[in-house]
Amino acid sequence: MDEHHLSQRLSRVAAYVQPGSRVADIGADHAYLASALVLEKKSDYVVAGEVVKGPYQNAVDEVQAQGLTGQVHVRLADGLAAIGPADRVDTLTIAGMGGSLITQILDSGQDKLAGVKRLILQPNVGEERLRQWLVNHRFQINAEEILAEDGHTYEIIVAEPTIIPIQYDERELVFGPLLIERQGTVFEQKWQEVYQREAVALTQMKAATTPPVDKIRQFEHRLALIKEVIG
Ligand code: SAM
Repeated sequence: MDEHHLSQRLSRVAAYVQPGSRVADIGADHAYLASALVLEKKSDYVVAGEVVKGPYQNAVDEVQAQGLTGQVHVRLADGLAAIGPADRVDTLTIAGMGGSLITQILDSGQDKLAGVKRLILQPNVGEERLRQWLVNHRFQINAEEILAEDGHTYEIIVAEPTIIPIQYDERELVFGPLLIERQGTVFEQKWQEVYQREAVALTQMKAATTPPVDKIRQFEHRLALIKEVIG
């Protein structure tokens, strides 16, 4: 993969960036996504934020090699500390991390979200928690996608600020309010796998010398929920 050939996962994230956007990609790693957005003429202003020095340096080198230093601004910073008002960022992409880390980045950078009109998030796990954060902070989920690549399943969540309070029920938070409506093969595969994995864990818990009663109840509830959705 490079900026000319994104993975399917990152190219689907890029697909939700509207032409003419001013973007911040947080956790940019090599800045492949940030650079591709400029090369594809989706944006001419992208901040690539990275908190670890090694990937930050990779991003700096990559952007320089591509001659994109005027458009891709690589910054060594923790989360949304990478951006300021002068950047006038309207679109935020955060991909390839756990949902709890994405939630933490959004939560601790709330003061930077005022001008942001679109969040494009790709959690590797922990989607439910992230959706709950979005609801609590008045972001409405306007698009969702699930895809399989290299043996992994990935979800993409696109959310925009709303003044109307949003409510998602438990099923919508767990499975995704739009994904649950559409479902499809990858969705079914993912939840079949989760069901099987958690059913095994439940059997083991029940066989323990001191079975963890609360955890067993949680797992039973979740398994019933999955069965109800995928049949
Ligand atoms: N976004 C790329 C992708 O989707 O392929 C890279 C994903 S990589 C697994 C996650 C990157 O996020 C790492 O380079 C890591 O250093 C960076 N990262 C983790 N926490 C971060 C934070 N709080 N602020 C900025 N970058 C962070």
